[in-house]
Amino acid sequence: MSHYIGSVCRLCRRENQKLFLKGDRCSTDKCAFERRGYPPGQHGQGRIKFSEYGLQLRQKQKIKRIYGLQERQFRNLFESAERQKGVTGSNLLSMLERRLDNVAYRAGFANSRTEARQLVRHGHFTVNGHKVNIPSYLVSKGDAVEVHEKSRSVARIVGALEGVKRREIPQWIELDAAGLKTRIRDLPARDDITMPMEERLVVELYSK
Ligand code: SF4
Repeated sequence: MSHYIGSVCRLCRRENQKLFLKGDRCSTDKCAFERRGYPPGQHGQGRIKFSEYGLQLRQKQKIKRIYGLQERQFRNLFESAERQKGVTGSNLLSMLERRLDNVAYRAGFANSRTEARQLVRHGHFTVNGHKVNIPSYLVSKGDAVEVHEKSRSVARIVGALEGVKRREIPQWIELDAAGLKTRIRDLPARDDITMPMEERLVVELYSK
């Protein structure tokens, strides 16, 4: 799938759910979904009935969009989740949460996952003292994720941390906001992911 370059707010409207893709704007009354909470397009306000396949596809697209992954990356992660012990859908969500760009976002070092991905790529973070600029890097229990010492005054990181009080830091991440560092207390479990997602439908879709 090619990279999506349209309005990201359209994606929220398409999935009929706030996906929080635009940082602080998502919590204001400028949010497009708050103003027009129906799917885009000519038939957006009509009643849309999905087939079983359609429901599965929509869930897959939604989860992929929340984490900002391309189809191939998402599929690879799914195949890796399938090879692990346990429930494939929960494994998949746990791995998505463990991505370094997601950790940077969830810890409050960025306003959105897109911004977090850019910051990771630009080398603003270290894991256990080593610079890591790979957004898909998966953190492990006990890892220390920190803002690189040369990046401590980066305006986007400082600004994001100021707004962190507006959203919840998941319990599996221990944040030291003053020290610009976090520790991964535990691996994220299914219950730690509160945004509505039906990963079971993704498993059904890919198992056809
Ligand atoms: Fe979605 Fe609203 Fe954020 Fe736009 S502003 S990305 S519609 S949650």
